[in-house]
Amino acid sequence: MSVRPEPLGMPLDFSTKVKGRRGKPPQHFADLNADGVVEVLTELNQPRYRAAQIATHYFSRFSASPAEMTDLPTALRDQLTERIFPTLMKASRVLSADDGTTVKTLWHLFDQARVESVLMRYPNRTTLCISSQAGCGMACPFCATGQLGLTRNLSVAEIVEQVRAAARSLADGEIPGGPTNLNNIVFMGMGEPLANYRAIMGTVRALVTPAPWGMGMSARNITVSTVGLVPAMRKLADEGIPVTLALSLHAPDDDLRSELVPINTRWSVNEALDAARHYFDVTGRRVSIEYALIKDMNDHAWRADLLGRKLNARGRGWVHVNPIPLNPTPGSIWTASEPEVEREFVARLRAHGIPTTIRDTRGSDIDGACGQLAAVEEEQPA
Ligand code: SAH
Repeated sequence: MSVRPEPLGMPLDFSTKVKGRRGKPPQHFADLNADGVVEVLTELNQPRYRAAQIATHYFSRFSASPAEMTDLPTALRDQLTERIFPTLMKASRVLSADDGTTVKTLWHLFDQARVESVLMRYPNRTTLCISSQAGCGMACPFCATGQLGLTRNLSVAEIVEQVRAAARSLADGEIPGGPTNLNNIVFMGMGEPLANYRAIMGTVRALVTPAPWGMGMSARNITVSTVGLVPAMRKLADEGIPVTLALSLHAPDDDLRSELVPINTRWSVNEALDAARHYFDVTGRRVSIEYALIKDMNDHAWRADLLGRKLNARGRGWVHVNPIPLNPTPGSIWTASEPEVEREFVARLRAHGIPTTIRDTRGSDIDGACGQLAAVEEEQPA
């Protein structure tokens, strides 16, 4: 593990004064659609074709700095910096692991709210785990973010900027292995994405829209992970953008799930599974079930069987299970299941015909793995 002082493709100081209403991030290019950008250009007495020029810089070259947009008139670059390219966030701490191929960035937002994103480079793909909220209101007791409570929702631009900064750092060859593209996005950082629905959909649209107005990513390479906010899952199915849906289940029975995922008292296991199956019916996308394996809590063979039965009761081929060995979090007494218990759990699910793969989690030595994001500023004393 090493501490890198340099941020990823971001200026360290806030050279642009933060404007905007109290409590609301200043407006940024990534919050606007094409019409919105044209409107700004019209106010600045500029031709509308400049909108696509700016979009190309942002979404294809990953530049959020008008100073780099040298095909624009100098005066306009200054005006754009002032008007729609405020520095929205500052990388205050960058930690890396796995020989530099896993990088966790702590971002300070304009109001000092903090979030983290984690970039992971594998031999043949790259994945960025992004945050959708500062903190989280879902209060799952085994998750570090859940212990923080919710600070606030992020804006579209605050989420898109996490992606742009990572894409830029990959393109610039900052991650060992040479310059490359960003392939996958997972909404598995801080926050409950479906509790910030409008902003995460705005982000998804920016990611899937082809150039020049978006990053042209495939929806299937974007994963939205949820605790099971059933009405929002159903709404997501109807958006016509078939992102991959992951449901954090963690228990097949309501008694235990209500303890591990408190929102279960509002929408039960059966309701969450029905909504997941509905998502498959509408989109054709196989749903992922996330299941953190916690020693002597939820890792019993009978629970694997119950899960297998509940999934099969809703049909075949629509779902796969992703057990995640529990990552340690501060103050928690829970630990990961024993290897042989984990093997048995997986074997039981497979015996029910459920495709099951243990998630390879990265970054646990930099508190960057699933459930460990707490936006801590400095190393805690051991
Ligand atoms: N709020 C969303 C997005 C967070 S995703 C959700 O819960 O789905 C993070 C994933 O990591 C979720 O499946 C979450 O349940 C899981 N997780 C949380 N704490 C964990 C821990 N300590 N160890 C392993 N996985 C954990």
